[in-house]
Amino acid sequence: MSRNTRAVISVAALRHNLAVAREAAGGARVMAVIKANGYGHGLLRVAHALRHADAFAVTSLEEAIPLREAGFAHPILLLEGPFEPNEIQLVSRYRLDMAVHSDWQISVLQGARLTRPVNVWLKVDSGMHRLGLPLDAVRDAHERLSGLSGVSPHLRMMTHLAEADDPHSGATPRQCRAFADTVAGLRGERSLANSAGLLGWPDTRADWVRPGIMLYGASPFGAGSSLHAPLRPAMTLTTRINAIYQHRAGDAIGYGGTWTCPEDMPVAVAAIGYGDGYPRHAPSGTPVLVNGERVQLIGRVSMDMICLDLRGLSEPAEVGDTVTLWGDGLPAEEVAEHAGTIAYELFCTVTQRVHFQEE
Ligand code: PLP
Repeated sequence: MSRNTRAVISVAALRHNLAVAREAAGGARVMAVIKANGYGHGLLRVAHALRHADAFAVTSLEEAIPLREAGFAHPILLLEGPFEPNEIQLVSRYRLDMAVHSDWQISVLQGARLTRPVNVWLKVDSGMHRLGLPLDAVRDAHERLSGLSGVSPHLRMMTHLAEADDPHSGATPRQCRAFADTVAGLRGERSLANSAGLLGWPDTRADWVRPGIMLYGASPFGAGSSLHAPLRPAMTLTTRINAIYQHRAGDAIGYGGTWTCPEDMPVAVAAIGYGDGYPRHAPSGTPVLVNGERVQLIGRVSMDMICLDLRGLSEPAEVGDTVTLWGDGLPAEEVAEHAGTIAYELFCTVTQRVHFQEE
């Protein structure tokens, strides 16, 4: 691999983070959220590493069917799909669970002749106002679905938290109350918590928790939060130094000349850019590790390259030395904050050009 641009996925870290989630969950069951190609870490790789989870959650049939075909017998919840009425047969055939969040899904289930009943999670909009049945439609939906031959009698209820990553927001207690009031007296298991709920709001644990980002070792609260769980980064993105130059004071670096050398100084060119998924908006000053020591990105991120200020290293760097963009020793959350995004996006947008390997 000549560019040597790698995403090393740590199976041990994934397993460790699942154990942290399980511990935080108390007795609640853990549904590992592995949608979007396991948050960019690789769907099957992550599923194997997290096979001791009680269930998996994905977005759509395209993500669920490969899991079944690979032999995973876990409950698999479709958080959004199916997207077309005729796909309901596949939900049944592949023994998938589905989140019912809209009227058309209920009508399809009412009319469907299914060989095997599907497990339904009623998805309640308790205040996020994205996907979910309005509060005043929930009890009616529950009644319409109960007793249908195509629906398993164990109806479950779930909601999603909009602001659990903000420990000071009043939205989470409001959502919990709205959800509890709406489903009061209805039989069936309940689920509210994403990673932030699980780690920051113990009241949201209920019967099932649905952690995603924490399993990959990033804090849902961001880099600066004091709410730290003992997570380990599952993805370490590295590359190599391709060139080192001694530039002069006044030399402007890269496209647009946005950063100027304040003195004569060594600058490295590292083999990664937005073509690999490194965020183009990461500004000068974004931390990067060279041989494990912190240096700063300087100038604009190009498609294939970034430039690094090598002043201040304890040992001079050389061509071929290792550059770490995030992961071991440098939290993705910190890089994300510099780039004006979140670790979720950094993980999901690593491109095919990067060589993935497991350790
Ligand atoms: N539950 C639902 C419905 C989701 O959409 C997601 C992710 O977006 C999760 C749980 C997991 O969230 P997180 O990755 O913040 O833990």
